[in-house]
Amino acid sequence: MTKLFITFLTAIFLGIVCTGCSVNPVTGENQFLLVSPEDEKQMGEEYSKEVEKELGQSVNDVQIQNYINSIGQKIARICHSPEVGFSYKAIDHNSVNAFALPGGYIYITTGLLKELGAESQLAGILAHETAHVTARHIAQQITRDYLIGIGFTVASYKVSSGALRVADIVRQLESMSFSRSEERQADTIGMDYMVKAGYTPYGMVETMEILQKQDESRTIEFFSTHPSPENRIGYLKEHIFNNRYPNTGTVGKEEYASNITERLKLIKPPPKDKNSQ
Ligand SMILES: [Zn+2]
Repeated sequence: MTKLFITFLTAIFLGIVCTGCSVNPVTGENQFLLVSPEDEKQMGEEYSKEVEKELGQSVNDVQIQNYINSIGQKIARICHSPEVGFSYKAIDHNSVNAFALPGGYIYITTGLLKELGAESQLAGILAHETAHVTARHIAQQITRDYLIGIGFTVASYKVSSGALRVADIVRQLESMSFSRSEERQADTIGMDYMVKAGYTPYGMVETMEILQKQDESRTIEFFSTHPSPENRIGYLKEHIFNNRYPNTGTVGKEEYASNITERLKLIKPPPKDKNSQ
């Protein structure tokens, strides 16, 4: 009887502890998360409007937006969670950055687009951000913040979304920092995605090399929230070697030049960034 009672209590306890448990679609591991994919979508919907308002409007050029979204969709189609409903947008901002909001809203700045020179490099950035979403890193980050009591996201969103200070939210979303192992995971999973979508994996390595060079002369925002490029280049090359990824696949230099580089010259430069040093 007592034994049965203990079993009963244990079952209840496990039931409580595991209400937030879910299986990570990428790693297959159990995760404790306080936000569901539906919660994330709702947050992303709300925050994406604020991000565009705060950081500058999305780039007003149909060709640029369509091109970026079409490359993003090639990755979204073959990723672990296509049902998220990803969107990929260019945002008019001088910083060199890319980031993902909850719910699959992915942004890349015109500052970063200007540094790149091939479709495969752009695919590398978009695939990295997509992997942060599919591996539920954003949900994990929100859960972590919430559990240690400094989280704005779930707490404030659920309690008083109207009272949120927009500028603070945007700053936090933009600089959402993941752990080193999460970044590494986003790099390697992202590389798997881009190869599966038909791109050469070297596009991602080149992106790191380009940004590393730039970072010597000025601070690159992408690196303030990401690990330094040196060891990333190392393990990315290792990942190519271990998976025997061929050096074939789309590079797309001309496509990138005509759809991005040339188009960016035609649109008016973004207003001076008020936060730039
Ligand atoms: Zn990242």
